[in-house]
This record gives sequence, structure tokens and C-alpha cells, in this order.
Amino acid sequence: MDNITKEEDILNLVREAKSEDIPYERVFSSMCTYPHPIAVKAHNLFLSSNAGDPGIFKGTNKLEKKVISMIGDLLHKRDACGYISTGGTESNIQAIRMARNLKQRKKPNFIVSEMGHFSFEKTADILGIKLKKAEVRDDLTIDPDSVERLIDDDTIAIVGIAGTTEFGQIDPIEELSKIALENDIFLHIDGAFGGFVIPFLDEKYMFDFELDGVSSISVDPHKMGMSVIPSGALLTRDKKYLKRLEISTPYLSSKSQFTLTGTRSGASIAATYAVLMYLGWDGFKSIVKSCLRMTNIIVEGMRDLDINPVIDPKMNVLALNVPKLCKVFNTLWKKGWCVSKTRKPKALRLVIMPHITEDIIDDFLKDFKRALRDNLIR
Ligand code: PLP
Repeated sequence: MDNITKEEDILNLVREAKSEDIPYERVFSSMCTYPHPIAVKAHNLFLSSNAGDPGIFKGTNKLEKKVISMIGDLLHKRDACGYISTGGTESNIQAIRMARNLKQRKKPNFIVSEMGHFSFEKTADILGIKLKKAEVRDDLTIDPDSVERLIDDDTIAIVGIAGTTEFGQIDPIEELSKIALENDIFLHIDGAFGGFVIPFLDEKYMFDFELDGVSSISVDPHKMGMSVIPSGALLTRDKKYLKRLEISTPYLSSKSQFTLTGTRSGASIAATYAVLMYLGWDGFKSIVKSCLRMTNIIVEGMRDLDINPVIDPKMNVLALNVPKLCKVFNTLWKKGWCVSKTRKPKALRLVIMPHITEDIIDDFLKDFKRALRDNLIR
């Protein structure tokens, strides 16, 4: 290793690496974005704070309780319990772990739709639980009949997705809630993306704690919550669920913890608190509104080219039926656009995050048109 000791030289190396990261202005494939400036400021104040040791970091602990109560308020349960995690993956693993510990079956299984995020594959693997995939209907929402057929005595949880990763679709959570109550099964809602979108849509979707069957929800401040990476949130209806994760922590300032990681970022908590306070729900509503406006501009631009969405977008996730998909996809990447593809049905996937402006869309549509023309001619 070269021994470079001058601060400026080291920082230049860091900056050089940073310059290789693609700026979000070219990114349509990520569900993350630039954190809000106030989140960055709050984050920087808490860099050494460990939320995993709440007896020492008492202020951090206070902020975390406030953040959970604020997000709980948004999701119709101000007294929800929970904690700030590293993101949707951790929250999903923890939710299913809770359900497993609650039900205690010899060969447990849980049910997610074919549209489930790959974090559930990790969940199944880590926890040693079988993952059963429910079919989806034509509109790519989970089929409740398929869920009912998959339930057996060893089913410990059903997952409903409020904002699927690939299509931004919302499962019929009301129906899942009824099924969960009738069968006495834990219902986890994966709102990692949609949790900070659906409450601000003009159309009302029931997906959260206002439905009695919903036991827990994951929602990510580092996605549409405008906070820093890593910030996830796991909320539960009742403390008794979290209790199922409790492990004693003999040498820490607290007696026990129910989080997955031990040492945890207090900076994520402070950043999330700051941005929620600063924007308020009206601020989030206008961010969502603007993302939807940008989404519609793309939809219209694509319709002019005879390209249609797979489903009418419910939120700022758009999947488009594009001819010569692989070729167009590769051309777009060559032109410097980060786009992605869905699994089934195959489509071009665009996530229209708050960093996407009309000017960016203009440039993108111009390149898309050329990519389409060039690949259709060949
Ligand atoms: N759940 C959904 C619906 C997602 O879209 C994602 C990520 O895109 C996750 C879970 C996983 O979140 P993370 O990458 O923050 O772990």
C-alpha cells in the first residue's frame, strides 16, 4: 500500500473514486436519490452516535422514538412500535423472523407474490423458512385466491406489497388483511418504496395499520423519504411482536435489543427526523406530486412513439413494453443512461425519483427515440 499521508492527497483519491460514481441525473434504475440538504446536515452531527447503545446515546434514542411515532402517524398508528433499520431488506427479514418466533412451527413457510423483492429470498435462506410464491392477476397484483390455496398449518406469514419494485403495483391489502384475520396469520406489508408514496396519492388505497389484519410494515426513508442511506423503518402494530425478537445484551447500557445489527447509525435516525420535520406531510405530498407529473410526461412521450406501459402507473415506477428490449436497453446504457428491466413480463423499467427533472426527461426521450430507431432499422 502506498503511504500517502497528506490530507489533501488522500481526499483527492477519495474524490477521484467519487467521480466514477454515476450522478443520479443519469439514473432511472435506482429507488434512491439525493438526500434532502437538511438530512445531510443532521446526519453530519450524529456521525459517532450508536443507536445500538441507547443508554449512552440518549438523544439519539429520543429522536428514534419520535421518528417511529411520526411514521406511525402517517401509517394510521401513532403508537406503533419499531426502529430505524438499514433498509427494506433488514426490515423484511426482521418482520418474518418475528412471525416465525410468534408461531413456532416445525416447518414454517410464508407467502409472497411472484413480484416480491429478492430480499424475501434472502429472508427464506437466512431463517430457514420456505418461501411460497403466490400467483399474480393480469394487473400484476397478488391473487388472493392463490394465497388462500397456499395457506397451510405451517404458514406463519403473508406478505402484501405496497409498491412493487418492478411495476410500482399495490397488492389488494384489504383482501389480504381479511385472509390474515380469518386464518390468524401474521400480515407484513412491504412498503419499502410505497410507504412514502401511497399516503400522498390522490387515489386512496388502504394498505397500512388502518386495516386490522396488518401486523407490521417496512417503509424506507432512504427511498422516497429523502433521507440518507442507510435508513429503513420497521413498524409493528403491537410491542408483543417486537418482543419476539428480543435478545439480552449483558454488557451494554440497555438490557436487551430487538434490532438485527448491534451497532447502528444514529446519523440515519437524525437525518430522517430532520427531513420529516422540515418537509412535513405537505412537503412530501408535493414531492410525490412532482414525481407523478414527471412520470406522466414520460408516459405521454412514450405514447407518441407507440410505446405503452405494462400497467397504468400507480406511482413513480414505470414499466414500458419496448420492442427489441435488450438492444434498446444496451444502447441506452452505452449512451450513459442507467435503466433496468423487469423480470416477468419483460419490460423497460424506469423509476422517476425526485432528481429527475423535465430537462433530464427531454434528453432521455431524445436518446430513447434514437436508440429505438437505430435498433428497429437494424
Ligand atoms: N422491498 C421493496 C419493495 C423494494 O423495492 C426494495 C428495494 O428496492 C427492498 C424491499 C429492499 O430494500 P433495500 O435495498 O433498502 O434493502
